[in-house]
Amino acid sequence: MGLLSGMEKFGLSKFKNANVMEEVSEEVKPANIQVEEKKEPPFNEEDVLFDKHYTCPVCDYTFTTRSVRAGKVRLLNHDTDLRPIYGKMDVLKYDVISCEKCGYSALIRYFGKLTVKQSRAIKEAVGNSFSGISNKNRVFTYDDAISRYKLALLTAMVKNAKQSEKAYICLKLAWIYRGKLEGLDKNDPQRDEIYKEELECISNAYEGFLLALSNEPLPIAGMDENTLKYVLADLARRLKKYEESIKLLGQVIISKTTNDRLKKMALDMKDVLKQEVEENK
Ligand SMILES: [Zn+2]
Repeated sequence: MGLLSGMEKFGLSKFKNANVMEEVSEEVKPANIQVEEKKEPPFNEEDVLFDKHYTCPVCDYTFTTRSVRAGKVRLLNHDTDLRPIYGKMDVLKYDVISCEKCGYSALIRYFGKLTVKQSRAIKEAVGNSFSGISNKNRVFTYDDAISRYKLALLTAMVKNAKQSEKAYICLKLAWIYRGKLEGLDKNDPQRDEIYKEELECISNAYEGFLLALSNEPLPIAGMDENTLKYVLADLARRLKKYEESIKLLGQVIISKTTNDRLKKMALDMKDVLKQEVEENK
């Protein structure tokens, strides 16, 4: 299945099989979830959300979308590829802003930063055939989030975004699939398919970040060189590219600019990696 499958429902079937990176034109232990005190009211995801206003830089339409109130959801832990794990809900579902009218979509950190040429390209390639998306759901499901991340990826492709932006969307979409997978029953028949989707996103993120590392100035997607190499090492591990992974980890470990915390994480990952290599022999 293509990374952008499902875009037909937005009138964008021409992108169904597009190649994302082509230009157009100790698994961290499960978080120590604290036992809720009996007096605390049950958590309701809707209570930490609010409607935030945005103006679309492509079509000037003003709209609202669901956003997470700062400081309302606690960060508990990270996965080995730095996926943030929050208590009680998955904040990542709300990280893409989508214009309801023309379909322009981007991660919050990249939203609105467009040249005239990019804006025109999006209008022509997406806006003209876009059939609309609603931001009105009170709470976004994982499937809502998946559609929005795919729209962000498609927008990034159309505007010829840097490899790093496309890679970062792929990485976060992989995290969305992982979040969806974690919420499914062990025997759910969708599991294999969702894990495949996660791996496809990881593969694109790995390829894109490697290109970005050799072609783009640092920081890349907010990461310095050592952090990005560490993330790449973990993505390589997840793709069973063990030689690449060990090489990248070695670079992180011997670098004089790696801080102690990252060095420890890299050493821990090296142990996990050795164990995996043994198991796969
Ligand atoms: Zn718009």
